[in-house]
Amino acid sequence: MSEETTHAPDEPSDTLRDDSARDDFIRDKVRADLASSRVEHVVTRFPPEPNGYLHIGHAKAIVLSFEVAREFGGVCRLRFDDTNPETEDIEYVEAIERDVRWLGYTWDGPTRFASDYFEQLAEWGEKLIRDGKAYVDRSSEDEIRAGRGSITEPGTPSPDRDLSVDDNLELFRQMRAGEMPDGAAVLRAKIDMAAANMLMRDPLLFRIRHAHHYRRGDAWCIYPMYDYAHCLEDAIEGVTHSFCTLEFENNREIYDWLIEAVEIEPPRPEQTEFARLSLGFTVMSKRKLLQLVTDQHVAGWDDPRMPTISGLRRRGVTPEAIRRFAEDVGVAKRNNVIDIARFEHAIRDDLNHRAPRRLAVLDPIEIELENWPGDHVEQLEADDWPRDVPKDGTRAVPFGRRLLVEREDFAEDPPEGWHRLALGREVRLRYAYVVECTEVVRDTAGRVTTLRCRVDLKSRGGKTADGRSVPGTIHWVSADHSVPLEARLYDRLFRVEQPDATGGDFLQHLNPESLVVHTDARAEPSLAGAAPGTRVQLERLGYFVVDQDSAGDPLVMNRTVTLRDTWAKVAQTADAREAAARAQRRAEEKKAYKEAQRRQSEAGDDGVTLSADEERIAARYRDALGLAEHDATLLARHAERAEFFDAAHGICSDAHAVARWAINELRGAAGDRPLSELPFEGAALGRLVALVEDGAITAAAGKEVLAAMVAGEGTPEGIVDARNLRRIDDAGALEPTIDAVLAANAGQVAAYRGGKTALFGFFIGQVMQQTGGTADPQMVRRLLTERLDAD
Ligand code: ATP
Ligand code: MG
Repeated sequence: MSEETTHAPDEPSDTLRDDSARDDFIRDKVRADLASSRVEHVVTRFPPEPNGYLHIGHAKAIVLSFEVAREFGGVCRLRFDDTNPETEDIEYVEAIERDVRWLGYTWDGPTRFASDYFEQLAEWGEKLIRDGKAYVDRSSEDEIRAGRGSITEPGTPSPDRDLSVDDNLELFRQMRAGEMPDGAAVLRAKIDMAAANMLMRDPLLFRIRHAHHYRRGDAWCIYPMYDYAHCLEDAIEGVTHSFCTLEFENNREIYDWLIEAVEIEPPRPEQTEFARLSLGFTVMSKRKLLQLVTDQHVAGWDDPRMPTISGLRRRGVTPEAIRRFAEDVGVAKRNNVIDIARFEHAIRDDLNHRAPRRLAVLDPIEIELENWPGDHVEQLEADDWPRDVPKDGTRAVPFGRRLLVEREDFAEDPPEGWHRLALGREVRLRYAYVVECTEVVRDTAGRVTTLRCRVDLKSRGGKTADGRSVPGTIHWVSADHSVPLEARLYDRLFRVEQPDATGGDFLQHLNPESLVVHTDARAEPSLAGAAPGTRVQLERLGYFVVDQDSAGDPLVMNRTVTLRDTWAKVAQTADAREAAARAQRRAEEKKAYKEAQRRQSEAGDDGVTLSADEERIAARYRDALGLAEHDATLLARHAERAEFFDAAHGICSDAHAVARWAINELRGAAGDRPLSELPFEGAALGRLVALVEDGAITAAAGKEVLAAMVAGEGTPEGIVDARNLRRIDDAGALEPTIDAVLAANAGQVAAYRGGKTALFGFFIGQVMQQTGGTADPQMVRRLLTERLDAD
């Protein structure tokens, strides 16, 4: 495991928001407890079970417990809840300790283990027996379950419920001494077999397990149940605030009952629940993560596609980004799935000022500059940082006759709006010159091998001498000086947002393209020998980190995240986002409703009645997906439409968005053409909707893509790339265009600086036009202000 260089383990979390800004029900409770003197010194804990590696959900719990302790001058402890001998292992203990440290936290005192408390827990078991609050039950597992009753019926007391204290003490001693086999008896609390909370119907405290425990060996054979162990472990450690996820809400009653029953001195620990973190397009259950590893769907717990801390580390995500994300998501009382775009945003935001810019080409095609002076090599100066990062630094990149560019950046048959290389077209090479393709050279199989180009020798730095505008800029490396690179591009591990929500096998949703490796990539020479853990932004390609196993030849890099930003979507607070989304949905539903009514009356099928089958489908759309009545009906009424919708929804889980596109937008683009005549299927529509919903393209661009799909131009991704519709939000990628616009309009620039500030809109318009409307207007505004006001 490569150690992080960017970050010292003890560094305080000063990258997080100002403490005073944090206000949630957890902090409120802690504040109130301190104010009322219920507690004087805050003690929290993180209590993992060592049966797997930590994931991003655990990170949220870790950040919460450590940050709350820090904010209130208290301490946080690390305790392994190792009460299940069968699944636990020292490997997991070590991995978890490493991950917590890497996240930037130091726990108070030694690492603690529940297995060190088994004797104390057994003593308390005897105390409960002596106090008439626990008994040994020799019923079978099935009998105990049946005796619990149901929500509507009280339970039936076990025949052993009224054994004498002495008999119970003797039986419990036998259990502990290993004189009984597994399953022969359990220790139960004697609470209330008619309790409304089923968990209070004499819960199990200890069970017999003759198994090997990784710390206790074979000698110990009674294992405490979670509900018994957890609260008392907290009590032993002097924990004051015990945070856990919402599914333990009903367990709080047992927690409090036991703390009371064993007579813990104040301050007693108290449990508070918060919503667990669920991220889209991944799974978080340790059992499922383990299955991915053991069935070799991934290369290991630290495979960069895994949502584990070790996977994220290997992928190049920093601890700061994880902590920031956890804090930004905040604590809530309601479970929901967090859009993965928010996590990606936090990662980009963090890497933007950490990762210097570099050039590399994933899938090279050669260009030869026919009018370049011989073998001359020019060292061009390239900025390490874009203007929006307040850091300086440059490096030299060699430029010569033979260069490599991305095969994708050349089109033999350029679609409308193509701004990259094509025969007879000009393009700017980043930091270098403007070139024009004059000849396409092919091998005998007809595959393009080389592009001959003319370089405009007067355009050094990318500005043309005569002020003509060249809208496109592409990246490149020198063919003779670049170094070999293996680039591993990771994508979402699953194709659907909630792989484990639909029932069935979650593995069926695995994304077969979650890893794409480019073994013939080339990187600029300054990257030669880059150490594992080095982070860079490869311009136009994404943020990358040198893999921990990279020995240098070739250099191996993992893509941490692409450059695509969904800033607009996450900039607002979660609440505002939800409110805005709701309002938008309502408005859209209303519009769709009117539209549907209009269509129905046109078609003369007002008040149509659905067949039983159709009604079942409509009910599913309404109840399970939350679609509005008319949309559900509209889709269900035609089997073909429903199938089309289902296929799209299988790809993009936002049912409202999919319905909107499948009903309204599609009609706008295809008119009354039957679906069966369209040159694409429902899944393709789903992919398009996902592109819009993820913020990869704007809604306006989405409509353009849909029209092109209807016209048979291909897949949504293909059209987006061919027309260069991806939202441009990386400042570095916009700068050349801005330079070009300012250079081409020198007169207006002078006038603006002379006081004609109304020209600002003109510049914005020019940049937007040059980028085909794909630039983030906010970013354009900011960059233009900087440029116009600076020079
Ligand atoms: P499993 O995935 O097997 O259900 P677990 O994730 O609950 O297990 P633990 O080791 O018991 O594993 O978790 C340790 C702590 O992390 C617990 O306090 C738990 O509440 C918290 N935690 C686990 N998953 C999440 C999550 N997705 N979001 C927030 N906290 C979590
Ligand atoms: Mg658990």
